Formats: sequence, C-alpha cells, structure tokens
Amino acid sequence: MKETAVTRHLPKRNIPLFRWSDDSVSVAHVKAIRRFTVRTVLPEPIAPLARLANNLRWSWHLPTRHLFESLHPVLWDKSRHDPVALLGAISGEEFRAMARDEDVVARVQTAAADLDRYLTEPRWYQSLNGDAPERIAYFSPEFGITEVLPQYSGGLGILAGDHLKSASDLGVPLVGVGLLYQAGYFKQSLSRDAWQQETYPVLDPDNLPLTLLREEDGTPVTVRLPLPHGRQLLAQIWRAEVGRVPLLLLDSNVPGNDDAARGITDRLYGGGGDHRLQQELLLGMGGVKALRAYARLTGTSAPEVFHTNEGHAGFLGIERIRELMAGQGLSWDEALAAGRASTVFTTHTPVAAGIDRFELAQIEHFFRAGLAPGVPVDRILDLGRENYDGGDPGKFNMAVMGLRLAQRANGVAKLHGEVSRGMFAGLWPGFEKSEVPIGSVTNGVHVPTWVDSSIGTLARDAFGPEAESLGRWDLAYNVPDETLWALRRELRGKLVADVRRRLRSSWKKRGAADAELGWTDGVLDPEILTIGFARRVPTYKRLTLMLRDPERLRRILLHPEHPVQLVIAGKSHPADDAGKKMIQDLVHFTDDPEVRHRIVFLPNYDIAMARTLFPGCDVWLNNPLRPLEACGTSGMKAAINGSLNLSVLDGWWDEMYDGENGWAIPTANNGASPEERDDIEAAALYELLETQVAPRFYGAALSTDAGAAGPSSADEDGLPTAWISMIKHTLAHLGPAVSADRMVKDYVSGLYTPAAVSGRDAAEDGYALAKDLAAYAERVRASWPGVHVEHVDSSGVSESPQIGDTLTVNSYVALDGLTPEEVRVTAAYGRAGHDDRIKDPRSVDLDPVEDLGGGRWLFRGTIPVDRSGAFGYTVRIFPRHEGLASNAELGLVVNA
Ligand SMILES: *Cc1c(COP(=O)(O)O)cnc(C)c1O
Repeated sequence: MKETAVTRHLPKRNIPLFRWSDDSVSVAHVKAIRRFTVRTVLPEPIAPLARLANNLRWSWHLPTRHLFESLHPVLWDKSRHDPVALLGAISGEEFRAMARDEDVVARVQTAAADLDRYLTEPRWYQSLNGDAPERIAYFSPEFGITEVLPQYSGGLGILAGDHLKSASDLGVPLVGVGLLYQAGYFKQSLSRDAWQQETYPVLDPDNLPLTLLREEDGTPVTVRLPLPHGRQLLAQIWRAEVGRVPLLLLDSNVPGNDDAARGITDRLYGGGGDHRLQQELLLGMGGVKALRAYARLTGTSAPEVFHTNEGHAGFLGIERIRELMAGQGLSWDEALAAGRASTVFTTHTPVAAGIDRFELAQIEHFFRAGLAPGVPVDRILDLGRENYDGGDPGKFNMAVMGLRLAQRANGVAKLHGEVSRGMFAGLWPGFEKSEVPIGSVTNGVHVPTWVDSSIGTLARDAFGPEAESLGRWDLAYNVPDETLWALRRELRGKLVADVRRRLRSSWKKRGAADAELGWTDGVLDPEILTIGFARRVPTYKRLTLMLRDPERLRRILLHPEHPVQLVIAGKSHPADDAGKKMIQDLVHFTDDPEVRHRIVFLPNYDIAMARTLFPGCDVWLNNPLRPLEACGTSGMKAAINGSLNLSVLDGWWDEMYDGENGWAIPTANNGASPEERDDIEAAALYELLETQVAPRFYGAALSTDAGAAGPSSADEDGLPTAWISMIKHTLAHLGPAVSADRMVKDYVSGLYTPAAVSGRDAAEDGYALAKDLAAYAERVRASWPGVHVEHVDSSGVSESPQIGDTLTVNSYVALDGLTPEEVRVTAAYGRAGHDDRIKDPRSVDLDPVEDLGGGRWLFRGTIPVDRSGAFGYTVRIFPRHEGLASNAELGLVVNA
C-alpha cells in the first residue's frame, strides 16, 4: 500500500513541549533540547485526510467535521476537535483498519472530492465581469479562524478570519498576510480572589495546520529586514489554507536570528515600544516581501489591491514605495501616488487610545538602519506625523499613516464612519466633516462558522439544501412556532450544560475541592430567560454597568415569575488593571450563594466558548459608551442564531435596530457626567429587563407597546408567540444584513474594484498617470495660496424667486497660473440655516467661460431653485485631476 505523510519531519527548535491535553499548565517542566514530530503515515485509500485536515475549511464545513469525529469520537473530543491533533493521535494500526473499511474509505473520498470542487468551481466572484482585481492582499495583525489556530485577541481578529472565510466562499481571490505568534493571545483563569491570571501556552507550528513555504530546493523561504546596530530580523513564512484563500504568517523564531529577534513574534501585541514596532515593521514590510516570494514560488499573480486592516499593517505602503522607487525609477511622490491608488485602509476604533502611536524618533531610528534603502526617511516620518490641530508633533500615528497611504478608507459601521470623519477631520482642514474621505462598510459575520449546526439542519430538513446556500432567511417565517421554540430550548440546554462544566473547572483552578462544588451542577436553569454578555473588557464596554444597582439586579435575577439568568465572559488586556478590577467586582457578585445559580462568569472567552454561547442565549446584551463601539459583531452572531439583541444604539445596532428585532437601551444626553450617564443608562437597562424583555419571554407582555408583533401573551400551548415572532423577524431581516458575504461583496464593489481600476490607471504607460498626478500635486500646492474667488454674482431670478426658477452663477476666480482644467469650481447650494450654513448641500460644477487675463477666469453655471424657504449658495474651488478619487484628497479647498 502506498502511504502519505501527514506532518513534516523536521529537526525542532528549542521550545518547550506544548501538551494539548492539559488545560492549565501547558509547559512541561523538563525542556527538550531537540525534538521531532513523528510523522503520521496514512495508508493511501484514506490519504486525502491529510488535505482535509490541513485546509481550514473543516472549521466551518460540518460534513468534514463529522467525518473526523466519526473516525474516532473519543480522540476527537480529546484532541479538542483539532483534525491535525486527531490524526497525530490515531495509531498506525487504527489507520490501517480504517483503510480496509469500505465505508470509511468512501466517505473520505467523497469529502475530498467535495473539497476539490469547492476549491476549483466558479463562485460568485467568477460571475463578475469587468474590472474586479485579479488578486487582493489582506493584511491584519491577527486572524481568528478557529480555536485550533489561536492567533487573535478579539473582534478585529475574528473579523479578519470571517473576511477570509467569506472571501473563500465567494471565490474572491484574496491572500491574507499576518504574523505567527508563538503564544498567540493569553489564556485567562482566575485566582481564588477573582483576579485575572494569564498564561501563554507555547504553540508548536508543526502541530498546527500550517505548511512552511519553501524554495524549490526545500530550504525554507526567509524574508530579511535590517535592524539598527548591524542586526537583522529574519522570518520564515507559514502558510495556512483557509478554503480557497492562502494565509501567509511570518514567524521570526528562526535559527539565523539573535534571541531578541527570535522573540519579535513571541506573542500577539507583545510588549510595547520597540517590540511592538518591530512586529509591525515585520507585518507590513516583511509581509510584502513574503507575498513576492509566494507569488514567485506558486506562479500566481501579484496582488492588484492591498487592504490594510487597521493601522498596524501600514508599513506595507512603505515597502511598496520602496519597490516602486527601486524597480520603476519613480520619485517618492510618484511612488506614493501609485501605491495609494491601489491601497485600501480600514480603521477600526473610534477610541483615540486604541490607535497605535510611536515616538517619531523611534521610527527614525529604525528606518535610518536601512529598512527602506533609497526611500527618504523624512518623507516616511511625514506620513505619520500629527501635524494638525490637536496632534502631538512628536508622535508617529499609524492610523494617520494608513490614511495618507491609502486613496480609499473606511470605518466599520455607518456611525463609525461618521465618528471617524470627525476624528480625522484635522487632516482635511477647510472641509466639512461630511466631506472627509472616509466611508464605511459595516462588518459582518461568517454565517457557516457562527450559526449553530442545528439551525442549519433545521433549514435543510424543512426547505432543502438550496434554502441554505441561497441565504433564504425569509423562510424563517414558515417554521412552525413550536419547532422554533423547541430548537431555542435545545440550544439553551446545551449552553447550560457547557456552563456547568466550565464553571466547575474554573472553580477547581481557583482552588476549590470537588466536595465544595456540588452546587455547580445546579447552576442555571434550561427553562429560564438567558442573557449573554461576552467581550473584551476595555473600560468603554462597561462590563459592570449591570452592577450599578446590585439590589435591583438581584431582584431581576430572582424574580418569582420572570427570573433572568446571566452568562458573562471576557478577557482584560494583561496591562489593564482597571479591566481586571471590573472582572473581579463582577465575579465577587457572582460568588454570592444567593445568586450564583443565576449569574456566572466564565473564564477564557474564546471561539470555542462563543460557538455555544451565542446560540444558547435568548438575549444578547451590549452596553458600551456610545459611540465608542466601532461596530461590534457578537450581537450579529447572536442574531443569526435567533437571539434578540438588547443594546445601546451603537455600532451596527445603531443602523440595524428596527423596533421589532430587539430593544434599544436609551443613552443619556450629552452633558451628563460619566457617573450620571452610567446611572441613567443602567436604570434604563433594568427597566427594559423588568417591563419588556422578561415579561415577553414568559409570554405575558402587554400588547400596547410599540413594535410588539402578533399576539403577545402565551398561547394555549404555553408558547411565547410575541417572542417567537421577534425571533423570526430577526432571522429574516438581520440574517442577510449581518452576513460577512454581504460585507465582502460591499468591499469588492465599493473599494477593491475602484482601487484596482485606479491602480491600473496609475501604472499604465510606465506610471504616466502617477507621474502626472505627482507633478500636478506639487504644482497645485505651490499655487494654492494664490487661488481665490474674487467675486460672485448671479442672475436669472427676480426679487422673489419661485420654485422652478434657475439661477445663473458667475464666479470670478484667480488661479495663480493653474489652468481652468486643473481646478474644479463648484456652486454648493441648498437650504440655508439661520447661521447661513447650507444644510445637506448639493453642488454643480461651474464651467470656465472667459479668460479675463492675468490668471483670472470667469466660471459660470446654473443651479435650480428647487425648494421653498431660505435658500443659499456658495462657491468653492478644489484641485482637479483624473488621478484623484475625491475633492478632498489633497486636502486643498478654497471656500468663497
Ligand atoms: C465575536 C467575538 C468577539 C468580538 O465581539 P464584539 O462584539 O466585537 O466585542 C470577540 N471574541 C470572540 C471570541 C468572538 O467570537
């Protein structure tokens, strides 16, 4: 029998043994100085198992998971549902027995054929025609794909993982770029006194679903960055397969590095200062080099679009400028214009403290070491300089650099787009906030990952397989109430069982003996309204808002007819003692024997916990300080499982709450002090729980409140029909809206395709357009101080204008040597407020009609008088060039 090796056989580096079988202490005490991964050898008939384990599609493809589970249910559980670990644990004898079992062989072959079809058949993207990019590179500091590859800390990473998965499902030719952290993010446990403890289990890449990128002769590919003092940073490149999407992860733990350099990728967001900066230099600059090596070795095309997911990866733009300057002979400005054209930047935080900033001197120190040979260091520093009102001139701001290196930028929800335009308005002085060129694409969640398998099964059984693949969420209305309610009870029951198990294990780690823990078997009740709250614990997310009035919370939990139970989880940043204190306060509350059966805190929130938690909760709670939640995605994951959201109108909920899909916690007016605000909002939360949420769940809500759908009391079968109709409405309306497929399609049409077109235009004919734009930008900047509107007059309307009249506007402008084609002169018009500001202005371009000599021109155009009441207009001048994507791009404007 021919046999295939599963894992590579490699001399090992000196790292501690990681034992997946031990939850708490993952580092063995005796260190091996050298170790080997003994390869598993698969008999040929079942050899495709190796491919199935190595492609992370199994993490969202239920039939493949079922196949692995069926091979060895006991080891499947022991290996924590990790196919690579499972294959490593099955003995050769067992494999040979499987290879003789026709049924197993047939199922393996079917699964492999299905994977091949998935990887090669045309999908949504292949049906697009026209300008969509041939390849897109997606850079992110973290990727949360599966608990088996723990390379994420929270929302940003999970989002990046979901982005790759939906891109794969849609056939979008994305390639991901990130870092491989030896320890990922920390594992959380609690001390006896409920203080967060962190451990950093060391991962062994050879036991992860990764393959090392190698040269044709078998040596690992390395990228190299020079460091100050003659040092260097080398990194090898691991490749994960996320369905159709390759993900390249750079790893500095290689023999050629000194100890400090080996430690650069030690842990996610490790250390501060130089450590963090070197991680980001490796991600951005090393990431582009890794992409080049990948393209060379696989014969695939180079990315046409680069997506910078949050500021951390921004140095990718510098490496591309370096390439363009060295390879194409472009000047800095030309290379910047060309690079910007094909770059997209997404900002993820409305919290100023959430943005990465370095000392300018630090950046200078590293670049002077020759990180980007031939690239002027002063210009690099200018990219991140906070040289605007309110900025700190000594700082280098990664988000600011991201915006300056990308022609297109976006926030991650409508409200977040608006907040971002305000936050970065200083970069575009003279422009209205609404004109700041930052748009928004609302985040989404990868449905096959986050929807509970029983919901998929229900949909398939009731409506056939097409219903699922077509995203027919509206069919939720056709599900009988009792079926839906039975499913919700089943999901709640699974959560209760999982909570009891986790709680017992947490208490044992806190030092309790089994004999003390009998009560954990009775924690939570599968028939009680269950509310979930799980997220990272920065202060603005207000983990402890619910404790504002502890007595009132106690009454809500213990209500005789309408009891409520709460499941809470979340990690605090290791350096954030305020967050740890919040966790401690909360856990102390939950430790009280009077309420501990109704409120629990579960340590170590991660993807595995989340997958049981979202479906099992009836209500998902979110109470951030508005508008500091950029988007939030956990509520979306809850929604696709039929739980209802109870949330402050922030992030995604601000745009998707419709009165029937959950509840909005009112926010206090601006002007309230933080303490008052917490009081007011906590009171509003309690009030909603007492008068709306709990009564409706138990089938006794009064039908007078707005938005109640259908009859509101329990029907004769005891079903809470009003609640059930809210679930159906939630599934039908939010299902398609919160899906990451919707998000990725929005990126493709709104950002990737326009960026690909701009990028191609900029590069055509030896970068003619980029060169022209660079020269133009220099000229227009020099001339701009002399550009102004000298005089404006209008004709065509009488003293008392009427709707339907048109107004001719004459604008006399000085252009200081610019030609009339090089500027856009516009009339902005609309309803004038009492302060003469024009509300929601519309605008028309005016045309040059007369050369008045001396660099002066007459521009003319007409505007319709199309509304009654106070009407006003003004004239504005912007730069104009076909390489610009918006009026605001160069930050230059003349307002008459
Ligand atoms: C979805 C998710 C998050 C992000 O949740 P937010 O609502 O954005 O705070 C964090 N961690 C895990 C494990 C998740 O699944």
